[in-house]
Amino acid sequence: MASLSPLLKQATPVVVDYASGSWIHGTDGRDYLDFTTGIGVTSTGHCHPRVVEAAREQTGKVIHAQYTTVMHKPLLELTDKLGEVLPAGLDSVFYANSGSEAVEAAIRLARMATGRPNIVVFQGGFHGRTVAAASLTTAGTKFSAGFAPLMAGVHMAPFPYAFRYGWDEKTAVDFALRELDYLLVSRTAPNDTAAFLIEPVLGDGGYLPAPPAFLEGLRERADRHGIVLILDEVQAGCGRTGKFWGHEYSSISPDILITAKGIASGFPISAIAASAALMAKGWPGSQGGTYGGNAVAAAAGCATLDVIRDEGLVENARVRGEQLRDGLRLLQDKYAAFADVRGLGLMQGIEFADAAGEPDPETASAVQQATTPRGLLTLTCGPAGNVVRLIPALIVTEAEIDLGLECFGHALS
Ligand code: PMP
Repeated sequence: MASLSPLLKQATPVVVDYASGSWIHGTDGRDYLDFTTGIGVTSTGHCHPRVVEAAREQTGKVIHAQYTTVMHKPLLELTDKLGEVLPAGLDSVFYANSGSEAVEAAIRLARMATGRPNIVVFQGGFHGRTVAAASLTTAGTKFSAGFAPLMAGVHMAPFPYAFRYGWDEKTAVDFALRELDYLLVSRTAPNDTAAFLIEPVLGDGGYLPAPPAFLEGLRERADRHGIVLILDEVQAGCGRTGKFWGHEYSSISPDILITAKGIASGFPISAIAASAALMAKGWPGSQGGTYGGNAVAAAAGCATLDVIRDEGLVENARVRGEQLRDGLRLLQDKYAAFADVRGLGLMQGIEFADAAGEPDPETASAVQQATTPRGLLTLTCGPAGNVVRLIPALIVTEAEIDLGLECFGHALS
């Protein structure tokens, strides 16, 4: 008899039987309001009829036509559709399967394009689980402890985490940019630095939006030093923040954008986008993979982008996100451990701290565990595990947000 490996740590005891929209139906016969969406993946809700139909139809035509051997229509169509939402100038797209693989693709491209070895990451960033992606991840020691050596050439700069230091945003941004400048003169010279890699909203690292002034400071330094600016939009992209891309709250755009998760409502596909000139600096054949840009996943991606546009889901994420944050702030007034509420759109985090202001992972974990029996699925995040994150589907309704807030209130009390 086999059993599932204890290497997996499951946040809830739920076994899903079927799922629809914002709801998961468990084999225990109960319905759960899903504010986890498979960690920000099922953007159009579970089993959106148009996504299901697109995947079903494609499955009957061709499931796998390996893209370095035979190209297929869904991938060409997805590229056209992405062209409508990608930042201007990022008109060349490469596909992989997962966020981690796309992160690796971006790093490889930045190194090939610059001929430089080092990557600067920002504290609390999560970029994936493969060894290279884990080497770039500083969202918790659990993601890298025990399997060193990691990939060389990674340097970490501070993220402007104003709340942690009790600073205002400007002080935190000034500090983080000064430390970055110091890193560039003390440890990794610009001529050795291929890329800055950052999430526009820290995801697994604690649901912290990067202040626009910080992203703008990175853009300015990247331009000045010929460093490639890579934005990891794997969790924050595809409408989740109330803009199509998380970085659109600032005035910048990246040299390489990484997307995955919400792009295909649960089918595994990821992509990096860059200018054709930057992509041309990598060697043909230097990147690829057996399943990358799979035909069924690409068809689901096309349907997902159509649904996001046709149903106005970016705007829905913004409006429902405000409703969620307003409701959480009302709860915050009642609970002392509820130290900070923050996020953009449908990416909201609640940081728990004790009376001394220190991270309180016990309370965060107890609250997260307590939501499940009350019919609401939630997750924690943050290096210390003291942030509860709420990640509803972009199709979430006003009534579902109200219900989620009610369940969350019960779990708190
Ligand atoms: N980058 C970010 C910002 C992520 O949130 C994740 C997944 N949580 C990844 C990369 C890695 O994606 P995957 O798990 O698909 O490899």
